[in-house]
Amino acid sequence: MSRPLIADIDLDALRHNYRLAAGLAPGSLSVAVLKADAYGHGAVACARALSGEAPMFAVAAIEEAVALREAGIEEPIVLLEGIFSADELAQVEALGLGMAIHSDWQLEAALARRPARPIPVWLKVDSGMHRLGFPPERAEAAWRALEAAPECVCDLHLMSHFATADSTDAGYFQRQRECIVALAERLDAPTCLANSPSILAQPSAHGAINRPGVMLYGADPLEVANSASQQLAPVMSLRSEIIAVRELSAGEPVGYGGRFVTSRPSRIGVVACGYGDGYDRHAVDGTPVLVDGKRTHVAGKVSMDMMTVDLSELPEAGIGSEVVLWGRSRHGGVLSVDEVARFCDTISYTLLTGVLPRVPRRYNGAVSD
Ligand SMILES: *Cc1c(COP(=O)(O)O)cnc(C)c1O
Repeated sequence: MSRPLIADIDLDALRHNYRLAAGLAPGSLSVAVLKADAYGHGAVACARALSGEAPMFAVAAIEEAVALREAGIEEPIVLLEGIFSADELAQVEALGLGMAIHSDWQLEAALARRPARPIPVWLKVDSGMHRLGFPPERAEAAWRALEAAPECVCDLHLMSHFATADSTDAGYFQRQRECIVALAERLDAPTCLANSPSILAQPSAHGAINRPGVMLYGADPLEVANSASQQLAPVMSLRSEIIAVRELSAGEPVGYGGRFVTSRPSRIGVVACGYGDGYDRHAVDGTPVLVDGKRTHVAGKVSMDMMTVDLSELPEAGIGSEVVLWGRSRHGGVLSVDEVARFCDTISYTLLTGVLPRVPRRYNGAVSD
């Protein structure tokens, strides 16, 4: 028996979530975002699972695209931030990638090179996120330059990213949407706009191409869940076991700094999972966990390899009991990663991408190497 900590990845749930994303936007091509090792789920395994469903994948960097190509993934792959230096263009060409163009230097580099096959390009416009992209008033010239170079670039789309699509206050979202839609109409350009929150909650942002990310992994990015997001199924279950039990009288501190102090005679379970595995050290006392499918909570600061949970209300629980940090219990019951994130003052994105390499990933019941 090895250390009882594993990230169980349910690839059927991944496909279910992809179909949900695609079904919510029947007029759009849904590109599965696999950056950051598929948000911690394993990009190669997720790409294989979505092969035949998703017509295209997206990643953040060329290294991530190389890893997919080396694993035999043949679908089109797009670099969401494009190249980071002009010399990457040779690899873009060799690997048959598409790319975003968000800056003048990228545009010049793309137009200065005559590839064997033109490179698919998404022109990124800053409609209000104020991170990457051409200002709207300069986007038209960039678009015209790309249109005039069919030997260099192809499959042109106008791309933009929303800052507040997850919010119940749609004011700023509408301003961004109107900006980019007006530009697209003027240029007669197909659009690539929607990330997970806009796919789930803002059909007016569905374009020729959508870019679902976190929703594929079953996390709900919306500030307030809606009927679509409630259909998402968790893909990762982070699963460990109780490895020791302490019986403590009232008034005893538990763990580093004695943050948690027993208010009654208590049974404290020690779980083989800590921040050295990626579990968030910001988890407060009261952060939910499932023990044999029943809810209880963190009691004491998370340490590197272990954490402590309150078993006082769970007399049957003991050494070997299953502990689900988020995801699905074998005993029934689900703990959403979004709920855990709220107790850690963060978002599900950071918890999922934060699961460290020492946690083995097991796909549909089989551990991968
Ligand atoms: C990460 C990313 C996405 C996916 O966003 P989600 O909120 O995870 O759906 C879409 N577009 C771009 C440009 C991204 O960087």
